[in-house]
This record gives sequence, C-alpha cells and structure tokens, in this order.
Amino acid sequence: MRQSQLFTKTRKEAPKDEVAKNAQLLIRAGFVDKLQAGVYTYLPLGFLVFKKIENIIREEMNKAGGQEILMPSLHPKENWEKTGRWDTMDDLYKVKDSSERENALGATHEEVVVPLAKKFIHSYKDLPFSVYQIQNKFRMELRAKSGILRGREFIMKDFYSFHKDEKDLADFYEKMKGVYKAIFERVGIGEKTYLTFASGGSFSKYSHEFQTATDAGEDIIYVCNKCSIAINKEIKSEQKSCPECGGENFEEKKSIEVGNIFELKTRYSDPFELTYKDEDGSDKPVMMGCYGIGLGRLLGTIVEVYNDENGIIWPEAVAPFKAHILAFYSKDEEKNKRIVAEADRIYESLQSKGVDVFYDDRKDISFGEKLKDADLIGIPEVVIISEKTLEKDSVEVKKRGERQGKLVNIKEYAK
Ligand code: ATP
Ligand code: MG
Repeated sequence: MRQSQLFTKTRKEAPKDEVAKNAQLLIRAGFVDKLQAGVYTYLPLGFLVFKKIENIIREEMNKAGGQEILMPSLHPKENWEKTGRWDTMDDLYKVKDSSERENALGATHEEVVVPLAKKFIHSYKDLPFSVYQIQNKFRMELRAKSGILRGREFIMKDFYSFHKDEKDLADFYEKMKGVYKAIFERVGIGEKTYLTFASGGSFSKYSHEFQTATDAGEDIIYVCNKCSIAINKEIKSEQKSCPECGGENFEEKKSIEVGNIFELKTRYSDPFELTYKDEDGSDKPVMMGCYGIGLGRLLGTIVEVYNDENGIIWPEAVAPFKAHILAFYSKDEEKNKRIVAEADRIYESLQSKGVDVFYDDRKDISFGEKLKDADLIGIPEVVIISEKTLEKDSVEVKKRGERQGKLVNIKEYAK
C-alpha cells in the first residue's frame, strides 16, 4: 500500500484523557480511533493487525475441531433470567425497545449457545462437538482506562465444547491448553505468557488463565520458580504451594489476562435442561467447557510488550506489513527520477512476490518525519532508498529498533 493513499495520518499527541500506553501509541500511529471510553474503531493499519491475529486464532480453533458460527448480539431477557445472570451480572447492558420489551446486549454467549445446542443434541452419538465465534461483546466496564485492553464493546473469540462426561471434557480441556499456548507463541508473546491457575467458581476447583507479564497489567500473578506455571493473586491466599509441581517459591509479576479456559460442567446445561440419551437409554446432562480470547486485548498486549520510546515494534507474524519502504527524495531532478523509479520497482517486485509492503511515497514529508513515522508505526523491516544509498547501488535495510541498518545491493534486495 502507498502511504500517500492512506486516509489516516500519524499524530504527535495522543488524546489527553488516554492514559494507557497501548492506546496512546495505537492512536498516535493511526491504528485505532477512540469513539468514547472503551469504544474504538479499527483503522486500516489496525485492522490489518487485527485480521492477522484473527487468522491465527481461527486456524488454531479449526485445528482443534471447532466449527465457526456467528451468534447475535441482541439476546432475549428470558434466556438471561433462566441462568440467573439477568440480575447477577453487573456489567450487562440491558436495552428496552419502544414496545417495552427488554433485551441484553451479549456480554458472553452461554445464554444463546446452550439453547442452540439443545436443538441438535439428542443422543450420545451427537457428542462431543465444539462451536466458536469471533464476535462483538458488550460489557459496562466501570474502569475503562486501559485503552483497548478493557473495552465496553470488544471482540472476543468464544469457543464452547460439549461432552458426554467429565472425563471427555477433562481430556479436551487439557488439549485446549496446548492450543492456547500455540496461539500466544504464534503472535509473539509466548515467552511472557504464563498458564495460570485461577479460581474455578462453584463447579470446578480451578479454571486457567493465560497471563502475559507486563507492567501495564491490572492482574498480579505468582510464577513458580520450579515449573513456570503461575497462580493468580485471587487464589494465592488458599493455595500456598504450586498446584502443578508442589514448588514453594514464586516470583510476583504484573500481568494481563489475554485468555482463559473454564470447565463449566453443567452450570449452563442445567438451567436449559440440555441433556442427551446415553447408550443405556438414560438421560444425562451435557458437560461443557468454554474458552475465551479477547482479540483487542491481545493486540493491545502485544503493543504493551513490544514498544520503545519511539513507538511500536510489531512481531513479524502480526505486523500490518512485512517491510516499509522509505523513499528519501532529492532536490536534484535527475537523481530524484532514479529514486522514484527504483523505489517503485522494489515496491512492485515485493508485492508481486506476495510480500506485504507499505511504501512511504509521500512527497511533502521530510526524511526525518518519515523515519519518525516508521518508528511509530513499527513495521519490522525498514528499507531506505536515497541519493546516498543509490550512489552505492544499494538500499539500507534496517530492523525496527535498530539505529543503523546495513547496505544491501539493490538488485539483490528485490530480484
Ligand atoms: P477480566 O477479569 O479482565 O475482566 P473476564 O474474566 O471478565 O476478564 P472473560 O469473561 O472470561 O473475561 O472473557 C474472556 C476473555 O475476553 C478474557 O480473557 C479477555 O481476553 C477478554 N476480555 C474480557 N473482558 C474484556 C474487555 N472488557 N475488553 C477486551 N477484552 C476483554
Ligand atoms: Mg470482566
């Protein structure tokens, strides 16, 4: 994409009321725009990153056997009354229409997916199965000060699995730990993301969170020195030793919950009477698990982990583009012609090979400003073409975050 065509611009300052680093950087670099507290638009650059993250998650969910669906956001009040959450979920948005009918805006989807499953699950032969969606959620978050880490409208991947007994659920739940690990590794935060024991509510002893260590985190975890599995602060008071290996020494870290997995068992199948006929003819309750990841939160976490004083440093797998070509134009008309021709040629050659490239072809912007913008936007590889590099028939190739790049023969760079 040519940068001169991009409708958004970088900004020197972030809005004054935006205190979170992820939102400050993403707004300044033109990845997101804030509509109101906790509500953001993904702009072209931000949406490219979002889609890369979404694709990685979708691939892993499909590999795990999930079938993708898309459920609605407008939920009948009765469904939420059935589970008791119409009254107990404090952050639920409730809307009344002109005929006084009440609906909930989906904060999560057990209230929709369970009655849906009930229409198709009749016998043990229908189990196990899993569905998931990537879809908007609405929650009246009281503290919406963490930028895109805590939205009032945000996009979540929510995955639901259905099983005939606890053993089948437990086996699948173990498998999902590995699937989640793979996702966080692929997006570039694997090393900093800890499988974390959290409280399981009334149905299970534990649930598990995936917590990414960073000072921007709202959570506190204790990482076991022996096995690197963590415990959330909220259970740490009852749990003195590591539930995984028995270790007793922990390191305290601030962290962001990027995902979680939960054995729901019959918490939601009971109120909707979701049962199946077993081989012996008896009716049994369906066992469920649920598995969430916030896509915006994950994107914001990556920014919190990978930045410096000049801007964002995207891991390659989720970067909006692979390379950022900066053309440094000359006042000398002849030399300038060559700069334009070579930069155009590299741009087209990389594109024809399927490499995502961003091309700073803006004419009225100084070289210093182009470099600053490139640092702010954070594409992993910067390719500089100038009078100086062309004297050596070269381009300067620089990794984001490096001060000095290396000269590469221009014919070699884009063959
Ligand atoms: P938190 O404790 O941070 O409020 P939660 O326990 O309410 O999270 P879940 O309801 O389990 O979260 O949602 C699953 C995932 O959705 C979370 O792990 C997180 O990645 C994401 N998520 C939850 N709330 C938000 C939000 N307000 N904005 C963005 N992502 C969110
Ligand atoms: Mg919450």
